Amino acid sequence: MNREEVVDLFEFLEINYPSFSYSSKTIDTWLSELQMFDVDDVKRNLKELMAEDLYSKTPPLLSRIIRGLTPKKEKIDFTKNIYFCSRCNRGFNSKEECDEHFNRCSSVDYVIRETRKWFKKELTRKELFAMSDEEFQERYCKLLHWIQNHTQNESEKTRIEFIFNPPKKERAKSFLESR
Ligand SMILES: [Zn+2]
Repeated sequence: MNREEVVDLFEFLEINYPSFSYSSKTIDTWLSELQMFDVDDVKRNLKELMAEDLYSKTPPLLSRIIRGLTPKKEKIDFTKNIYFCSRCNRGFNSKEECDEHFNRCSSVDYVIRETRKWFKKELTRKELFAMSDEEFQERYCKLLHWIQNHTQNESEKTRIEFIFNPPKKERAKSFLESR
């Protein structure tokens, strides 16, 4: 959704809920969440919610309106080519998106496996995919550093070191040959 569509949405809410009012700050807040969704999906969800008794006097919260919606970039156009992630079978319309997802998907699996192994804690793919790229990257690097400092497995230590500091040719060669 774009700014204009958010304003339209607010005008629609104002007509339906006399107590509802908005400011430019509210527009910014809603826009930051709504921009990743299709306007038609948002309107459909909102209208369904408005039909419920619970929302006869006050409009549903933003978090309720977007619950369960699929972000635009995750929607698949079945008239186009579809590329599948070989780890989780999710489909994408472009090879680039699929590759980008594949990297994250592999790291997510790694984080789940290693967190279970080292911390006996179960993480879900859902929560790890819900993180922003920066947030996930930070978590992933933190875990790698932790393992690097705690593992007794020298080859694992070296593999992690190589992720952060790609080795010179000779070192990479001797590492690969010693396995
Ligand atoms: Zn995947």
